[in-house]
Amino acid sequence: HAARAATATFVVHEPSMNDRRAADAALAEALEGALQRAEFTVLYQPIVDLASGRVVAAEALLRWNHPLLGAVPPATFIPVAERSGEIVGIGRWVLEQAVDEVARWRRAGLPLSVTVNVSPRQLREPQLARDVLAVLARAGAPPESLVVEVTESAMVDEAVEIAALRRLRAEGVRIAIDDFGTGYSSLQYLTRLPVDVLKIDRSFVAQLDGTAEGAAIAEAVIRLAQILRLTTVAEGIETERQAAELLDLGSERGQGYLFSRPVAPEQILALVRAEEDVAA
Ligand code: C2E
Ligand code: MG
Ligand code: MG
Ligand code: MG
Repeated sequence: HAARAATATFVVHEPSMNDRRAADAALAEALEGALQRAEFTVLYQPIVDLASGRVVAAEALLRWNHPLLGAVPPATFIPVAERSGEIVGIGRWVLEQAVDEVARWRRAGLPLSVTVNVSPRQLREPQLARDVLAVLARAGAPPESLVVEVTESAMVDEAVEIAALRRLRAEGVRIAIDDFGTGYSSLQYLTRLPVDVLKIDRSFVAQLDGTAEGAAIAEAVIRLAQILRLTTVAEGIETERQAAELLDLGSERGQGYLFSRPVAPEQILALVRAEEDVAA
C-alpha cells in the first residue's frame, strides 16, 4: 500500500514539474543565439504628463519573435533568460538600442527620456554602471536622458545593487522602482535607496473605481512619493476615469493603453510631432 501511495503521488506531481522544466530548458535553448539571429526587437510605450497629456518619455519593452514559437511574451522568457544568464547580453543590447533612440529623439529636438528595465542579474554585474555610462557617451546621449527601472525583488543582495545604482545616479542617470508595492521589501529601504521615480503597479490602477477603498493603495504610494520628493508614474492606465482619478490624487505621470500601446521607435517621433502640430 505504501508503495502504491508513493507511486500515486509520483504520478500526480512529477509530470507537471517535468513539463515545466522541459519547457524552460527548451526556451533557454531557443534563447541561445536569438540575439545574433536578430529575433529581438524593442518597442517603446509613451509615458505622458497627466496634466497636459504630452509625451515626456518612453519605456523600452523587449519583444522576441521566434521563427517557430512566434511571439513569446517577456513575462515568459525574461525569467528564463534571467536564470540562464542570457539576460546579461540581451539586456545590454536593449540598453544600446534604447540609448541610440533617445539620442536620435534629442537630435530631432525632442527633450524625451527613455526608460530601460534592468534585471537583478544585470545589476549584479560589477561593471554595469561603467558599461551604461560608456553606452551613453558613445551615443552622445546625456545621462539625464536615461531612466533605469528596477524592481523591489532586484534588491535581494542590497549592498551590491545599491552601489551600482548610486554610481549611475551620481552621474545623472535616474532610477525608478518598477511595479512598486508588489514586492516583499519593507518600506524602510526606500529611504536608503538612490531613487527618483516610483512606478505604481497596474494592479493598483485597475482598482481605481471611484471609491476610497479602490484608491487606497495608489493614494498611499502617491503621498509617500510626495513626502520623499519622488516622481510617480502610474502604469496600466486604460480608462479616462483612471487617468482623471490619478491626476486628482497627485500622480504627475502615466502610461497605459489609454494613451498608447508600445510602438516602433519611429512612431514615438510621429506621436510627439502630431502633438506639437495640435499645440501650434
Ligand atoms: P513592466 O516593466 O512593468 O512593463 C509594463 C508592462 O505592462 C508591459 O508589458 C506593457 O506592454 C504592459 N502595459 C502597458 N500598458 C498597459 C495597459 O494599459 N494594460 C495592460 N494590461 N498592460 C499594459 P510587456 O511588454 O509584456 O512586458 C512585461 C514585463 O517584462 C515588463 O513589465 C518587464 O518587467 C519585463 N520586460 C520587458 N522588457 C524588458 C527588458 O528589456 N529587460 C528586462 N529585464 N525586462 C523586461
Ligand atoms: Mg518597466
Ligand atoms: Mg511595471
Ligand atoms: Mg511588470
